[in-house]
Amino acid sequence: MAPRVPVPKGPTPLPANATIGILGGGQLGRMTALAAAPLGYRCHIYDPDAAGGPAAQVSDAATSAAWDDWPALDAFAAAVDVVTYEFENVPVDTVDYLMKRVPVRPGPQALDVAQHRVAEKTFARDQGLETAHFWGVTTLDELIEGLAAVGVPSILKTCRLGYDGKGQIRVDMDTSLSKIWEDLGTDDAILERMVPFTTEISVIAARGLDGTVVCFPITENAHEGGILRRSTVPAQIPEAVAAAARNVAETLIAALDIVGLLAVELFVTEEGEVLVNEMAPRPHNSGHWTQNGCATSQFEQFVRAVVGLPLGPTDLLSETEMLNLIGDDIDAVPGHFADPKAHVHLYGKAEARPGRKMGHVNRRLSPRRG
Ligand code: AMP
Repeated sequence: MAPRVPVPKGPTPLPANATIGILGGGQLGRMTALAAAPLGYRCHIYDPDAAGGPAAQVSDAATSAAWDDWPALDAFAAAVDVVTYEFENVPVDTVDYLMKRVPVRPGPQALDVAQHRVAEKTFARDQGLETAHFWGVTTLDELIEGLAAVGVPSILKTCRLGYDGKGQIRVDMDTSLSKIWEDLGTDDAILERMVPFTTEISVIAARGLDGTVVCFPITENAHEGGILRRSTVPAQIPEAVAAAARNVAETLIAALDIVGLLAVELFVTEEGEVLVNEMAPRPHNSGHWTQNGCATSQFEQFVRAVVGLPLGPTDLLSETEMLNLIGDDIDAVPGHFADPKAHVHLYGKAEARPGRKMGHVNRRLSPRRG
């Protein structure tokens, strides 16, 4: 007879073979679908370019339709048991529409805040958290005003749709403000004081349907040209900084009432201050190491939260590094496959373009000490 396993108290999870609808068809959707399968769940991808994309290649179903194709959204809602999203630029109207038909986790508040840099930093400040000094800028006059308030060096960023360092211009003493304002080509921007950080870190927190919050070990990140190149775990930071970073993630995920994940990117200063840079209510590139270095991967945790399962343990299994394969880096893949320590994860993208994330490699560096 099979041993009896006690059934946990708490919310009733979706039954096996239920379908998770994922808005967005990129690599984060792909790895979520791959993590959902062993837990017994199916995935249905919705994306204007879903067909043949990274997520659709490994999913049960895919719908390629516009974000405002209401009949297609009706059919999608009828075909799935819960909806989530794998990138934060899904229009809030789409999520609002779906919410009337099927549970959406996380809800639209997290999207609304994460889609706009001023809203994001204002929300963090409202929770008593620190950010770089910033100024919302919608005209050249406001840029001049903002520069007087924020000082140099600073960075002018587009508020929406900026990622991987795109839509960002450094501002120094001798910068022509009228030129950069024209170059940025938006009327919705943020001017941020450049933070002289010693370390960039990120924390990913998960929040279950019952409100339980669990953080993953803190990751140290190195960016090149605004794109994440390498993540290492554990981050080389004092415990007090780690505790402050976890507090930031726990505060934000609860304040946003997220069921799912929240990734928070932070700057650590020489004085040990922790400043919020960005947040994303979804799996995050800096959490990919968890696939091979953590008791539960961020993708499994995401699925667990969204379907109402108890969250998994987040013990660090070993020191781990994650290296992104960007553009031509894909040519080095044969060498990574030949490395017995390397776990290669490719995204199924047909064409390697400069700056395009093609895959990543996780390496366990040593067994966990202590
Ligand atoms: P973001 O798109 O805001 O995540 O910016 C991409 C990268 O640019 C960050 O990971 C930092 O390396 C750098 N960066 C962005 N904002 C600032 C800032 N206010 N101070 C210093 N470095 C920054």
